[in-house]
Amino acid sequence: MNLTRRELIAQTVAAAGLSALAPNETIAAERDAWRRELARHKIARFDSFHLQDRFPRRVGANANGSVQNYGGGFRVRRATTDSGKSGWSMSYQDDAVFEPYIGATVSDLFDVETGVREEARPLDRILYDLAGSILNMPAYVILGARGPKNIPIYSGSIYFDDLLPDNAERGISAVVDACRQDYQAGYRAFKLKMGRGKQMMTPREDGLKRDIEVVRAVRRALPDARILVDANDAYTLDETIHFLTETRECNLYWIEEPFEEDEDQLKRLKGAIAHLGLSTLIADGEARRESRNRQGLPPGGYGDYTEAFVENLMSLAEKKLVDVLLLDLDIIGYSRWRTIMPEFERAGVPVSPHTWAWTPRSYYAAQLAGGLGNVLIVEGIPGQAEGIDYSAYSKRNGDLILPDQPGFGLALELE
Ligand SMILES: [Mg+2]
Repeated sequence: MNLTRRELIAQTVAAAGLSALAPNETIAAERDAWRRELARHKIARFDSFHLQDRFPRRVGANANGSVQNYGGGFRVRRATTDSGKSGWSMSYQDDAVFEPYIGATVSDLFDVETGVREEARPLDRILYDLAGSILNMPAYVILGARGPKNIPIYSGSIYFDDLLPDNAERGISAVVDACRQDYQAGYRAFKLKMGRGKQMMTPREDGLKRDIEVVRAVRRALPDARILVDANDAYTLDETIHFLTETRECNLYWIEEPFEEDEDQLKRLKGAIAHLGLSTLIADGEARRESRNRQGLPPGGYGDYTEAFVENLMSLAEKKLVDVLLLDLDIIGYSRWRTIMPEFERAGVPVSPHTWAWTPRSYYAAQLAGGLGNVLIVEGIPGQAEGIDYSAYSKRNGDLILPDQPGFGLALELE
Protein backbone atom coordinates (compact mmCIF):
# COMPACT_ATOMS: atom_id res chain seq x y z
CA MET A 1 0.00 0.00 0.00
CA ASN A 2 1.50 3.32 -1.09
CA LEU A 3 0.07 6.37 0.64
CA THR A 4 1.18 9.92 0.04
CA ARG A 5 1.64 12.19 3.03
CA ARG A 6 -1.60 13.98 2.13
CA GLU A 7 -3.49 10.69 2.09
CA LEU A 8 -1.93 9.68 5.41
CA ILE A 9 -2.95 12.99 6.93
CA ALA A 10 -6.46 12.73 5.46
CA GLN A 11 -6.75 9.26 6.96
CA THR A 12 -5.63 10.48 10.38
CA VAL A 13 -7.89 13.53 10.26
CA ALA A 14 -10.82 11.37 9.19
CA ALA A 15 -10.10 8.92 12.00
CA ALA A 16 -10.18 11.84 14.44
CA GLY A 17 -13.62 12.85 13.13
CA LEU A 18 -12.55 16.16 11.58
CA SER A 19 -14.21 17.60 8.52
CA ALA A 20 -12.53 19.25 5.52
CA LEU A 21 -10.74 22.46 6.59
CA ALA A 22 -8.49 25.07 4.95
CA PRO A 23 -4.83 23.90 4.60
CA ASN A 24 -3.42 25.75 7.65
CA GLU A 25 -6.38 24.77 9.76
CA THR A 26 -5.99 21.20 8.53
CA ILE A 27 -2.35 21.09 9.61
CA ALA A 28 -3.17 22.56 13.03
CA ALA A 29 -6.14 20.22 13.38
CA GLU A 30 -4.12 17.23 12.34
CA ARG A 31 -1.42 18.01 14.90
CA ASP A 32 -4.02 18.43 17.63
CA ALA A 33 -5.52 15.10 16.64
CA TRP A 34 -2.09 13.46 16.84
CA ARG A 35 -1.40 15.05 20.24
CA ARG A 36 -4.73 13.87 21.64
CA GLU A 37 -4.02 10.37 20.38
CA LEU A 38 -0.49 10.28 21.90
CA ALA A 39 -1.95 11.46 25.23
CA ARG A 40 -4.01 8.28 25.41
CA HIS A 41 -0.96 5.96 25.65
CA LYS A 42 1.22 5.56 28.76
CA ILE A 43 4.68 3.97 28.87
CA ALA A 44 4.27 0.67 30.73
CA ARG A 45 7.74 -0.88 30.42
CA PHE A 46 11.13 -0.94 28.71
CA ASP A 47 13.13 -3.95 27.50
CA SER A 48 16.66 -3.85 26.17
CA PHE A 49 18.56 -6.34 24.04
CA HIS A 50 22.06 -6.78 22.68
CA LEU A 51 22.25 -7.36 18.90
CA GLN A 52 25.21 -8.22 16.70
CA ASP A 53 25.75 -6.95 13.17
CA ARG A 54 26.94 -9.35 10.47
CA PHE A 55 28.72 -7.77 7.52
CA PRO A 56 28.64 -9.78 4.28
CA ARG A 57 32.46 -10.12 4.40
CA ARG A 58 35.43 -9.26 6.53
CA VAL A 59 36.05 -5.51 6.17
CA GLY A 60 39.62 -4.23 6.28
CA ALA A 61 41.23 -1.19 7.87
CA ASN A 62 41.02 2.51 7.05
CA ALA A 63 43.87 5.04 7.15
CA ASN A 64 43.93 4.87 10.94
CA GLY A 65 44.69 1.16 10.92
CA SER A 66 41.77 -0.45 12.73
CA VAL A 67 40.35 -3.47 10.89
CA GLN A 68 36.52 -3.33 10.89
CA ASN A 69 36.00 -7.13 10.68
CA TYR A 70 32.48 -8.57 10.58
CA GLY A 71 30.45 -5.87 12.34
CA GLY A 72 29.94 -4.60 15.86
CA GLY A 73 27.44 -5.20 18.61
CA PHE A 74 24.93 -2.67 19.87
CA ARG A 75 22.11 -2.26 22.36
CA VAL A 76 18.50 -1.63 21.41
CA ARG A 77 15.64 -0.59 23.68
CA ARG A 78 11.93 -1.11 23.25
CA ALA A 79 9.20 0.91 24.94
CA THR A 80 5.76 -0.70 25.35
CA THR A 81 2.62 1.21 26.34
CA ASP A 82 -0.34 0.20 28.50
CA SER A 83 -2.27 -0.10 25.22
CA GLY A 84 0.19 -2.68 23.87
CA LYS A 85 1.87 -0.38 21.33
CA SER A 86 5.66 -0.52 21.09
CA GLY A 87 8.57 1.33 19.54
CA TRP A 88 12.31 0.65 19.57
CA SER A 89 15.68 2.02 18.54
CA MET A 90 19.38 1.65 19.11
CA SER A 91 19.89 3.13 22.57
CA TYR A 92 23.16 3.87 24.32
CA GLN A 93 22.28 4.60 27.97
CA ASP A 94 21.92 2.30 30.99
CA ASP A 95 18.56 0.72 31.83
CA ALA A 96 18.28 2.80 35.03
CA VAL A 97 18.08 6.02 33.00
CA PHE A 98 14.71 4.92 31.59
CA GLU A 99 12.81 3.91 34.76
CA PRO A 100 11.59 7.42 35.63
CA TYR A 101 9.67 7.55 32.33
CA ILE A 102 7.41 4.64 33.19
CA GLY A 103 3.87 5.96 33.67
CA ALA A 104 4.38 9.02 31.44
CA THR A 105 2.05 9.51 28.49
CA VAL A 106 3.71 9.57 25.07
CA SER A 107 2.58 13.20 24.67
CA ASP A 108 4.36 14.08 27.96
CA LEU A 109 7.61 13.01 26.30
CA PHE A 110 7.18 13.79 22.63
CA ASP A 111 5.64 16.48 20.48
CA VAL A 112 4.82 15.76 16.85
CA GLU A 113 6.02 19.20 15.79
CA THR A 114 9.33 19.45 17.63
CA GLY A 115 10.22 15.89 18.63
CA VAL A 116 11.40 14.70 22.01
CA ARG A 117 10.88 17.05 24.95
CA GLU A 118 14.11 18.19 26.63
CA GLU A 119 13.55 16.16 29.81
CA ALA A 120 13.02 12.97 27.78
CA ARG A 121 16.13 13.28 25.57
CA PRO A 122 17.42 9.70 26.19
CA LEU A 123 14.25 8.31 24.56
CA ASP A 124 14.58 10.49 21.48
CA ARG A 125 14.51 8.08 18.55
CA ILE A 126 12.52 5.39 20.38
CA LEU A 127 9.62 7.86 20.48
CA TYR A 128 9.51 8.33 16.68
CA ASP A 129 9.05 4.59 16.32
CA LEU A 130 6.48 4.47 19.13
CA ALA A 131 4.53 7.54 17.95
CA GLY A 132 4.66 6.09 14.44
CA SER A 133 3.18 2.86 15.73
CA ILE A 134 0.39 4.70 17.59
CA LEU A 135 -0.43 7.06 14.69
CA ASN A 136 0.22 4.43 11.98
CA MET A 137 2.71 6.79 10.35
CA PRO A 138 6.28 6.44 9.08
CA ALA A 139 8.97 8.42 10.94
CA TYR A 140 9.68 10.54 7.84
CA VAL A 141 6.04 11.69 7.78
CA ILE A 142 6.21 12.71 11.45
CA LEU A 143 9.40 14.62 10.53
CA GLY A 144 7.54 16.58 7.85
CA ALA A 145 8.02 14.57 4.61
CA ARG A 146 10.03 17.43 3.08
CA GLY A 147 12.50 15.12 1.30
CA PRO A 148 12.06 12.40 -1.31
CA LYS A 149 10.93 8.83 -0.61
CA ASN A 150 13.73 7.48 -2.79
CA ILE A 151 16.95 8.21 -0.95
CA PRO A 152 20.31 7.95 -2.76
CA ILE A 153 22.57 5.62 -0.75
CA TYR A 154 26.18 4.49 -1.00
CA SER A 155 28.04 1.52 0.39
CA GLY A 156 30.25 2.82 3.18
CA SER A 157 32.16 -0.43 3.62
CA ILE A 158 34.85 -0.39 0.93
CA TYR A 159 37.96 -0.42 3.14
CA PHE A 160 41.55 -1.65 2.63
CA ASP A 161 40.45 -5.24 1.95
CA ASP A 162 43.51 -5.60 -0.33
CA LEU A 163 45.70 -5.35 2.79
CA LEU A 164 43.94 -8.06 4.84
CA PRO A 165 46.39 -10.97 5.26
CA ASP A 166 43.79 -13.43 3.89
CA ASN A 167 43.60 -11.38 0.68
CA ALA A 168 47.37 -11.15 0.07
CA GLU A 169 47.04 -13.19 -3.13
CA ARG A 170 44.05 -11.24 -4.43
CA GLY A 171 45.39 -7.72 -3.90
CA ILE A 172 43.30 -4.95 -5.44
CA SER A 173 40.72 -7.43 -6.79
CA ALA A 174 39.59 -7.94 -3.17
CA VAL A 175 38.39 -4.31 -3.15
CA VAL A 176 36.78 -4.62 -6.58
CA ASP A 177 35.00 -7.82 -5.42
CA ALA A 178 33.73 -6.01 -2.32
CA CYS A 179 32.16 -3.37 -4.60
CA ARG A 180 30.67 -6.08 -6.79
CA GLN A 181 29.17 -7.83 -3.76
CA ASP A 182 27.51 -4.60 -2.63
CA TYR A 183 26.41 -3.95 -6.23
CA GLN A 184 24.59 -7.30 -6.09
CA ALA A 185 22.87 -6.02 -2.92
CA GLY A 186 21.54 -3.01 -4.84
CA TYR A 187 24.20 -0.36 -4.24
CA ARG A 188 25.21 1.84 -7.16
CA ALA A 189 27.52 4.17 -5.21
CA PHE A 190 30.64 3.14 -3.30
CA LYS A 191 32.86 4.99 -0.88
CA LEU A 192 36.46 3.82 -1.14
CA LYS A 193 38.75 4.37 1.81
CA MET A 194 42.04 6.07 0.93
CA GLY A 195 45.21 6.91 2.87
CA ARG A 196 47.07 3.58 2.79
CA GLY A 197 50.35 5.48 3.01
CA LYS A 198 49.62 6.97 6.43
CA GLN A 199 50.54 3.79 8.29
CA MET A 200 49.31 0.69 6.46
CA MET A 201 51.77 0.78 3.52
CA THR A 202 55.34 2.04 3.46
CA PRO A 203 56.91 3.98 2.01
CA ARG A 204 54.15 6.57 1.95
CA GLU A 205 54.32 6.96 -1.86
CA ASP A 206 53.50 3.26 -2.30
CA GLY A 207 50.31 3.73 -0.31
CA LEU A 208 49.27 6.69 -2.45
CA LYS A 209 50.08 4.75 -5.62
CA ARG A 210 47.91 1.84 -4.42
CA ASP A 211 45.05 4.25 -3.56
CA ILE A 212 45.13 5.51 -7.16
CA GLU A 213 45.28 1.99 -8.62
CA VAL A 214 42.29 0.94 -6.50
CA VAL A 215 40.15 3.85 -7.74
CA ARG A 216 41.08 3.12 -11.36
CA ALA A 217 40.33 -0.62 -10.95
CA VAL A 218 36.89 0.05 -9.42
CA ARG A 219 36.09 2.56 -12.17
CA ARG A 220 37.05 -0.01 -14.84
CA ALA A 221 34.95 -2.74 -13.19
CA LEU A 222 31.89 -0.53 -12.57
CA PRO A 223 31.82 2.16 -15.28
CA ASP A 224 28.43 3.57 -14.24
CA ALA A 225 28.91 3.53 -10.48
CA ARG A 226 29.18 6.66 -8.38
CA ILE A 227 32.58 6.61 -6.67
CA LEU A 228 33.29 8.50 -3.45
CA VAL A 229 36.65 8.48 -1.66
CA ASP A 230 37.49 9.09 2.02
CA ALA A 231 41.04 9.66 3.28
CA ASN A 232 40.20 10.13 6.99
CA ASP A 233 42.47 13.22 7.00
CA ALA A 234 45.51 11.12 5.98
CA TYR A 235 46.64 13.18 2.96
CA THR A 236 48.64 16.35 2.65
CA LEU A 237 47.36 19.02 0.26
CA ASP A 238 50.00 18.03 -2.33
CA GLU A 239 49.08 14.35 -2.06
CA THR A 240 45.39 15.22 -2.48
CA ILE A 241 46.10 17.20 -5.65
CA HIS A 242 48.36 14.42 -6.99
CA PHE A 243 45.63 11.85 -6.21
CA LEU A 244 42.91 13.88 -7.98
CA THR A 245 45.18 14.50 -10.96
CA GLU A 246 45.93 10.80 -11.34
CA THR A 247 42.26 9.80 -11.00
CA ARG A 248 40.85 12.66 -13.10
CA GLU A 249 39.41 10.21 -15.65
CA CYS A 250 37.47 8.41 -12.89
CA ASN A 251 34.78 11.05 -12.32
CA LEU A 252 34.91 11.03 -8.51
CA TYR A 253 31.67 12.17 -6.89
CA TRP A 254 33.25 13.40 -3.68
CA ILE A 255 36.46 13.45 -1.72
CA GLU A 256 35.91 13.19 2.04
CA GLU A 257 38.27 14.45 4.76
CA PRO A 258 41.40 14.70 2.58
CA PHE A 259 43.15 16.61 5.43
CA GLU A 260 42.03 18.50 8.53
CA GLU A 261 39.85 21.49 7.62
CA ASP A 262 42.03 24.51 6.84
CA GLU A 263 40.68 27.50 4.93
CA ASP A 264 43.82 28.27 2.97
CA GLN A 265 44.49 24.64 1.99
CA LEU A 266 40.84 24.10 1.04
CA LYS A 267 41.01 27.20 -1.20
CA ARG A 268 44.04 25.73 -2.95
CA LEU A 269 42.30 22.35 -3.29
CA LYS A 270 39.20 24.02 -4.78
CA GLY A 271 41.49 25.82 -7.23
CA ALA A 272 43.10 22.52 -8.25
CA ILE A 273 39.69 20.84 -8.71
CA ALA A 274 38.59 23.70 -10.98
CA HIS A 275 41.91 23.62 -12.86
CA LEU A 276 41.48 19.88 -13.50
CA GLY A 277 37.93 20.51 -14.73
CA LEU A 278 36.44 18.17 -12.12
CA SER A 279 33.06 18.42 -10.42
CA THR A 280 34.25 16.42 -7.37
CA LEU A 281 32.63 17.67 -4.15
CA ILE A 282 34.52 18.23 -0.90
CA ALA A 283 32.80 16.51 2.04
CA ASP A 284 33.94 17.18 5.61
CA GLY A 285 32.99 17.53 9.26
CA GLU A 286 32.74 13.95 10.50
CA ALA A 287 35.61 14.04 12.98
CA ARG A 288 35.11 15.65 16.36
CA ARG A 289 38.26 17.44 17.41
CA GLU A 290 36.89 18.80 20.69
CA SER A 291 33.67 17.31 21.98
CA ARG A 292 31.61 19.17 24.57
CA ASN A 293 31.75 16.05 26.72
CA ARG A 294 35.56 16.21 26.80
CA GLN A 295 35.28 19.85 27.82
CA GLY A 296 33.01 18.85 30.71
CA LEU A 297 29.96 20.45 29.07
CA PRO A 298 26.48 18.96 28.60
CA PRO A 299 25.17 18.56 25.01
CA GLY A 300 24.27 21.87 23.35
CA GLY A 301 22.41 22.96 20.22
CA TYR A 302 24.67 20.76 18.07
CA GLY A 303 24.60 17.83 20.49
CA ASP A 304 28.11 16.84 21.58
CA TYR A 305 29.79 18.95 18.86
CA THR A 306 31.12 22.26 20.07
CA GLU A 307 29.63 25.44 18.64
CA ALA A 308 33.12 26.45 17.46
CA PHE A 309 33.55 23.24 15.46
CA VAL A 310 30.19 23.52 13.67
CA GLU A 311 30.47 27.29 13.17
CA ASN A 312 33.86 26.81 11.48
CA LEU A 313 32.35 24.20 9.15
CA MET A 314 29.40 26.47 8.37
CA SER A 315 31.77 29.32 7.59
CA LEU A 316 33.78 27.08 5.21
CA ALA A 317 30.53 25.94 3.60
CA GLU A 318 29.33 29.52 3.11
CA LYS A 319 32.66 30.29 1.39
CA LYS A 320 31.98 27.26 -0.87
CA LEU A 321 35.11 25.47 0.40
CA VAL A 322 33.16 22.51 1.81
CA ASP A 323 30.25 21.19 -0.27
CA VAL A 324 28.74 18.52 2.00
CA LEU A 325 28.68 18.31 5.83
CA LEU A 326 29.16 14.89 7.45
CA LEU A 327 28.17 15.53 11.07
CA ASP A 328 27.37 12.27 12.86
CA LEU A 329 23.71 11.25 13.10
CA ASP A 330 23.77 10.58 16.85
CA ILE A 331 26.44 13.00 18.03
CA ILE A 332 23.95 15.66 16.90
CA GLY A 333 20.93 13.69 18.24
CA TYR A 334 17.86 12.78 16.21
CA SER A 335 15.44 15.57 17.19
CA ARG A 336 18.15 18.26 17.07
CA TRP A 337 18.42 17.69 13.32
CA ARG A 338 14.92 19.22 13.04
CA THR A 339 16.24 22.52 14.37
CA ILE A 340 19.62 22.60 12.65
CA MET A 341 18.78 21.20 9.20
CA PRO A 342 17.08 24.49 8.25
CA GLU A 343 20.30 26.32 9.31
CA PHE A 344 22.34 24.18 6.93
CA GLU A 345 19.74 24.62 4.22
CA ARG A 346 19.86 28.42 4.63
CA ALA A 347 23.66 28.26 4.37
CA GLY A 348 23.18 26.39 1.09
CA VAL A 349 25.00 23.25 2.21
CA PRO A 350 23.55 19.74 2.06
CA VAL A 351 24.47 17.09 4.62
CA SER A 352 25.15 13.38 4.65
CA PRO A 353 25.04 12.30 8.30
CA HIS A 354 27.88 9.97 9.29
CA THR A 355 26.42 6.54 10.20
CA TRP A 356 29.27 3.98 10.23
CA ALA A 357 29.25 1.29 11.60
CA TRP A 358 25.89 -0.10 12.85
CA THR A 359 23.33 -1.26 10.30
CA PRO A 360 20.17 0.42 11.74
CA ARG A 361 21.77 3.86 11.54
CA SER A 362 21.55 3.98 7.73
CA TYR A 363 17.77 3.52 7.94
CA TYR A 364 17.41 6.17 10.65
CA ALA A 365 19.42 8.54 8.43
CA ALA A 366 17.24 7.69 5.40
CA GLN A 367 14.06 8.52 7.36
CA LEU A 368 15.66 11.81 8.39
CA ALA A 369 16.45 12.51 4.71
CA GLY A 370 12.84 11.81 3.69
CA GLY A 371 11.52 13.87 6.59
CA LEU A 372 13.72 16.96 6.58
CA GLY A 373 15.22 17.05 3.08
CA ASN A 374 18.64 18.65 2.41
CA VAL A 375 20.38 15.24 2.56
CA LEU A 376 22.46 14.58 -0.54
CA ILE A 377 23.05 10.86 -0.07
CA VAL A 378 22.94 8.42 2.86
CA GLU A 379 25.82 6.28 4.09
CA GLY A 380 24.71 2.66 3.85
CA ILE A 381 26.13 -0.10 6.05
CA PRO A 382 25.80 -3.37 4.11
CA GLY A 383 24.82 -6.25 6.40
CA GLN A 384 22.18 -7.19 8.93
CA ALA A 385 21.83 -7.87 12.62
CA GLU A 386 20.05 -11.05 13.59
CA GLY A 387 16.77 -10.05 15.25
CA ILE A 388 15.96 -7.16 12.91
CA ASP A 389 13.70 -7.55 9.86
CA TYR A 390 14.79 -4.97 7.29
CA SER A 391 12.59 -6.34 4.50
CA ALA A 392 10.17 -3.38 4.32
CA TYR A 393 13.02 -1.47 2.66
CA SER A 394 14.11 -2.07 -0.91
CA LYS A 395 16.63 -0.54 -3.30
CA ARG A 396 15.92 0.68 -6.81
CA ASN A 397 18.39 2.36 -9.20
CA GLY A 398 20.77 2.88 -6.31
CA ASP A 399 18.12 4.52 -4.08
CA LEU A 400 16.82 3.18 -0.79
CA ILE A 401 13.01 3.31 -0.88
CA LEU A 402 11.34 4.42 2.34
CA PRO A 403 8.53 2.03 3.30
CA ASP A 404 5.00 3.00 4.35
CA GLN A 405 5.35 1.02 7.58
CA PRO A 406 4.93 2.94 10.85
CA GLY A 407 7.95 4.41 12.61
CA PHE A 408 11.28 3.30 11.18
CA GLY A 409 9.79 0.26 9.43
CA LEU A 410 12.34 -2.06 11.05
CA ALA A 411 10.76 -4.96 12.92
CA LEU A 412 12.34 -6.43 16.03
CA GLU A 413 12.00 -10.21 15.93
CA LEU A 414 13.32 -11.49 19.21
CA GLU A 415 10.54 -13.70 20.59
MG1 LIG B 1 34.63 9.36 6.85
